Amino acid sequence: MDSSEQVVTPDPATIKGLDAWRSLPIKQQPQWGDSRALEQVTGELSTVPPLVFAGEVDMLRDRLARVARGDAFLLQGGDCAETFAGATADQIRNRVKTILQMAVVLTYGASMPIIKMGRMAGQFAKPRSSDEETRDGLTLPAYRGDIVNGYDFTAESRTPDPSRMLRGYHTAASTLNLIRAFTQGGFADLRMVHSWNRGFAENPANVQYEGLAKEIDRAVKFMEAAGADFDELKRVEFYASHEGLLMDYERPLTRIDSRTGAPYVTSAHFLWIGERTRELDGAHVDFFSRVRNPLGVKLGPSTSVEDMKALMDKLDPHREPGRLTFITRMGANAIADVLPPLLEATKAMEISPLWVSDPMHGNGMTTSTGFKTRRFEDVVKEVTGFFEAHRAVGTHPGGIHVELTGDDVTECLGGSQKIDELGLETRYESLCDPRLNHQQSLELAFLVAEELTKL
Ligand code: PEP
Ligand code: MN
Repeated sequence: MDSSEQVVTPDPATIKGLDAWRSLPIKQQPQWGDSRALEQVTGELSTVPPLVFAGEVDMLRDRLARVARGDAFLLQGGDCAETFAGATADQIRNRVKTILQMAVVLTYGASMPIIKMGRMAGQFAKPRSSDEETRDGLTLPAYRGDIVNGYDFTAESRTPDPSRMLRGYHTAASTLNLIRAFTQGGFADLRMVHSWNRGFAENPANVQYEGLAKEIDRAVKFMEAAGADFDELKRVEFYASHEGLLMDYERPLTRIDSRTGAPYVTSAHFLWIGERTRELDGAHVDFFSRVRNPLGVKLGPSTSVEDMKALMDKLDPHREPGRLTFITRMGANAIADVLPPLLEATKAMEISPLWVSDPMHGNGMTTSTGFKTRRFEDVVKEVTGFFEAHRAVGTHPGGIHVELTGDDVTECLGGSQKIDELGLETRYESLCDPRLNHQQSLELAFLVAEELTKL
């Protein structure tokens, strides 16, 4: 640190407040069992270097403030549950590539900057509907994500193991390192990303997107002819996010920023509170209300205007631009009824929260053959309903939050590849929720771009 830089000593009450959650009701935490091992791991996590730093987090808050004002659009995407085994160069590259490709299409559609954020480099902990799972008469702890226990259905693998949090930290660090290398080192070159998109549009199955693809092509050619500095377009900002769920991981990675004395969670730039852990008086809302990171909260179809306002008062009492994002996951059939009243209630506010559509989590289903899946058409219907609701009320549809992968998996039904129930067997790899594959993700981007041109 520069010796001229001032170091602000944090207020002792601020530090103490960071542990207030410990005496509050808490959901979705593992039973670690081995308390000595837990103590050792949390001790180590509290001394390792931060994965992100406060300046970047502040920059993201500023970017999100622009989105909330209607001057930018957020694209947030990645796995439902990242795995340690899946943190390979190829898989990380394919996901980043998919997000960059989607972003180019959306940039054109929105004529606005697209803020790119991965559900990556830390999306390892999962909330579960049941603490246990029973198979053939054997009951074991539910799989809570690689950062807690293993997916294999044996007592040994399902026993929560605190040392997995250290592996989670190191896996997040190497993932983030590669993301930074890709997005700063030339891989994000607009012309290259555009040429990948041409490949998508040339596929006869995607003929319906040909018109928009041609327009984008002409726009890129125009930029080239007009002398745009493409070297400036080789680097992009890319932010990391995950569900702020596992408190024994998030708390030790929370640090006081020496410039301001304020606490930041340093495991990711952006954290969101899930639908299952957002009770007003619960541990998660209390803890995250005390840190400076921009926050998301998932809102499901039962959210009342009062719930929503109470969350705003607790998490964003000063109505700070970019601080709070509501990620709505209402279901394709419910959104037209349940979203507009929430939007109406925020419309009159001077500083509005940022609204993002998660068209995945309200649209789950299980096939007769036992696959957890989602229909691409339901995903599209929810996103379309999201845009319609905002158009009707006069608020800004700020972004989309999707579960996706860059690989050619077969986990969601439909899309131009027409994946059917039998096809799901071909390549179903998710350990948790089904993701859009590479093609389906691009298709969604083209459809959303068309919606954005109507704004
Ligand atoms: C998720 O985003 O993977 C998730 C569990 O979402 P929700 O909290 O909305 O159910
Ligand atoms: Mn999920």
